[in-house]
Amino acid sequence: MTKSTVRPIVIAANWKMHKLRGEAMEFLDELATYMDEHPQGLGSRVEVVVAPPFTSLELAVEHCPPHARIYSQNMHQDDHGAFTGEVSPAMLRDLGVDGVVLGHSERRQYFNEHDGALAEKVVAAAEFGLRPMLCVGETLEERQSGAAEDVVRRQLETALGDLDVIKATSSGLSIAYEPVWAIGTGETATPEIAQHLHAVIRDELASIFNVEIAERISVLYGGSVKPGNAGELLANVDIDGALVGGAALEVASFSGIIGAALDLVAATPSAGAR
Ligand code: PEP
Repeated sequence: MTKSTVRPIVIAANWKMHKLRGEAMEFLDELATYMDEHPQGLGSRVEVVVAPPFTSLELAVEHCPPHARIYSQNMHQDDHGAFTGEVSPAMLRDLGVDGVVLGHSERRQYFNEHDGALAEKVVAAAEFGLRPMLCVGETLEERQSGAAEDVVRRQLETALGDLDVIKATSSGLSIAYEPVWAIGTGETATPEIAQHLHAVIRDELASIFNVEIAERISVLYGGSVKPGNAGELLANVDIDGALVGGAALEVASFSGIIGAALDLVAATPSAGAR
């Protein structure tokens, strides 16, 4: 099977709780220089996303390199209300934010984020014009007990079950498969393991929505992606990008991953669909 040219490759930086505003600005300016120097394919076949902490979002929107998008790392599902410490989809849109990462395993693990709330967040993001990036993935225990596929299917079914079929593509929905045992551990899923789970995810998307829609949704891999392993992961038919933590804190390594995606699209003839 050859790699789809319908779906863009998305390379996303998750900064987590890192970077003061000055550092954020420096990174974005440096990234803009890299992107200016490598225009071929950027913005059309390869999309770049940066997800800074809330404190740098406004600045990131103002300093966003052309052809990149700024995502928040979380949001509340209501548009306003008595939810101390939370940030609403309306507030993010007001800042000019493009999308939102939802259900990252660190939020599930440390902040009790559960699939029920995620289902509401996905719908709210789509309604407010924020592109949802839904994270799913199994723990080491779940993988070792043979439950990885079931866990991921259940996470998708619950979190996406309330999303209108039309919104599944018009919202810019993407999925990030992030095996919990591979996040920040230096342990990467082999390209075979990752491709297998991505194919499972696409199959589940087809049963939640339909085959045509499943073919249009980008499924990113996350878990210790670096410039040295990005190419072999992205070469797989169902791996449409990378959600990157540690290696996205420096432009040198993040741009190495973007470069791997650009090399791949340069070697893959476009069907003219993008
Ligand atoms: C992440 O935070 O989503 C992630 C994949 O982190 P890392 O690349 O450091 O494993």
